[in-house]
Amino acid sequence: ATQKETLGFQTEVKQLLNLMIHSLYSNKEIFLRELVSNASDAADKLRFLALSNGNLYQGDADLKVRVSADKEKNTVTISDNGIGMTRDEVISSLGTIAKSGTAEFFKNLTGDQAKDSQLIGQFGVGFYSAFIVAESVTVRTRKAGEDKAIEWHSQGEGEYTLEEIEKETRGTEITLHLREEETEFADNFRLKSIITKYSDHISIPVEMWQDETPESEGPDGEKIPAVPGEWQAINKATALWTRDKSEVSDEEYKEFYKHVSHDWEEPLSWAHNKVEGKTEYTSLLYIPKKAPFDLWNRERQSGLKLYVQRVFIMDDAEQFMPSYLRFVKGLLDSNDLPLNVSREILQDNKVTQAIRKGCTSRVLKMLERMGKNRPEEYQTFWDEFGQVIKEGPAEDMANKDAIAKLLRFASTEKNESAQTVSLEEYVSRMKDGQEKIYYVVADSFGAAKNSPHLEIFRKKGIEVLLLSDRVDEWMMSHLTEFDAKQLSSVTRGDLDLGKLDDEQDKQEQEKSEQAVEGLIERVKTVLADKVKEVRFTHRLTDSPACVVTDENDMSSQMAKLMASVGQ
Ligand code: ADP
Ligand code: MG
Repeated sequence: ATQKETLGFQTEVKQLLNLMIHSLYSNKEIFLRELVSNASDAADKLRFLALSNGNLYQGDADLKVRVSADKEKNTVTISDNGIGMTRDEVISSLGTIAKSGTAEFFKNLTGDQAKDSQLIGQFGVGFYSAFIVAESVTVRTRKAGEDKAIEWHSQGEGEYTLEEIEKETRGTEITLHLREEETEFADNFRLKSIITKYSDHISIPVEMWQDETPESEGPDGEKIPAVPGEWQAINKATALWTRDKSEVSDEEYKEFYKHVSHDWEEPLSWAHNKVEGKTEYTSLLYIPKKAPFDLWNRERQSGLKLYVQRVFIMDDAEQFMPSYLRFVKGLLDSNDLPLNVSREILQDNKVTQAIRKGCTSRVLKMLERMGKNRPEEYQTFWDEFGQVIKEGPAEDMANKDAIAKLLRFASTEKNESAQTVSLEEYVSRMKDGQEKIYYVVADSFGAAKNSPHLEIFRKKGIEVLLLSDRVDEWMMSHLTEFDAKQLSSVTRGDLDLGKLDDEQDKQEQEKSEQAVEGLIERVKTVLADKVKEVRFTHRLTDSPACVVTDENDMSSQMAKLMASVGQ
């Protein structure tokens, strides 16, 4: 064996460890969920690689996790026969944080423990959570197909040691040396109840040692033979998504979500479906409660796992969800794709298309239903993900109507910046004779609310949607109709209020036009070629003038946007 080396943690790891220990003490037991979850991921990864190289199993294809406690040594050990890690992988996985959104995460920390513990949860606690209960952690691991094994050891402070070791079996064994005040975890009974609570859905067996029961005597004096000690699975060890919906409890769905998503909060909603017929697949799709730190990061990974016939194939299967639904997490299990499917094959594939279509409409329906039946939860969703949904009309023409139903806006009806008004709600409040849905787009909510274009609408009591998000202009250029009603910008061209303009108004308007005869001509001369046209307007009640765009021209908002990108 080579000598021991000492390496330093990446600065962020030190910070994270510190935070973890101080913020998560009220939720200590989750360390076990995290470590079992990693073991299960490691089994998935090995099974995938073994599809093309069966030798990797080396005669041991029975993938499992074992959890044991040693009261005397005050340790808990979690061992698996999954993929294992090479020395380099140990360094990158257990010495750094290799996650997108890391910078945003650290920027968001406040120093307030309650708030920060929420943030950590959102970020994903993972392996380092072992240090919540352990004063030191030893990881011994051997990668499948390699001879060399490595031991990682750390007190969870500034550094860790690495040492080459002999390890007979493939996989990873993690030993937690418990802090003095955490000895309660070195207890099989306690461990078992934690696993049952958090990890029952894990699809490989989670085994614990069952002590032998000595020979005994039955009630009628008959001999009951001794049962030798053995490893026993304490979970169901079947893939949760293959089970019947009626047999899976909400608790199980929620815990499974935490496992697949690495999220710590509960999901807002989920949909579990077995699809039969031309394309056969199972989907289990979750809507998270909170947006991840990297929602706007272009390189961010999708939250969908792909399985083929129950075998894990890949994380980040972004081909199955349009970009405006990129916050959806969960998994797909296809019966039609080949086991050796690659990202390239997925790209132009009929099965992929069919599943993507199915999953998209499933998510849209789930959201629509949430909007109808659980408006408060839907509002939570909208506040987190509304901006992303707004990319939908441009990206997914086919589902435009379904997406339109999901949109929420600020409006003159409420006059507050919160986006709560749906198009359906707007339509239900439309005035007699009103044919269009009116909206205004501005740089900020304040600017939208105070737009001079709204004066005539206020006077007539017509509701106008107030749009001020960056994507709004872009979205509205793709969304022209809802419920057979045209969406119309109040800043555009000749404002035709249709039947809303009454005869009396018209007469008054003519009178006032005559009263200022000549003015238009004079303004035209002054502004000369700065404008296309100067028109008399009746849409203003208090302001003397406003700028409008021609029906077919770019809106002023869009013109600004184009200018800002140098067009
Ligand atoms: P995550 O599971 O979200 O990737 P973790 O902090 O839980 O983050 O784990 C970090 C990485 O360490 C994993 O992605 C994996 O590469 C590696 N790892 C952790 N535990 C194991 C294990 N039991 N077997 C193999 N690799 C592991
Ligand atoms: Mg993990």
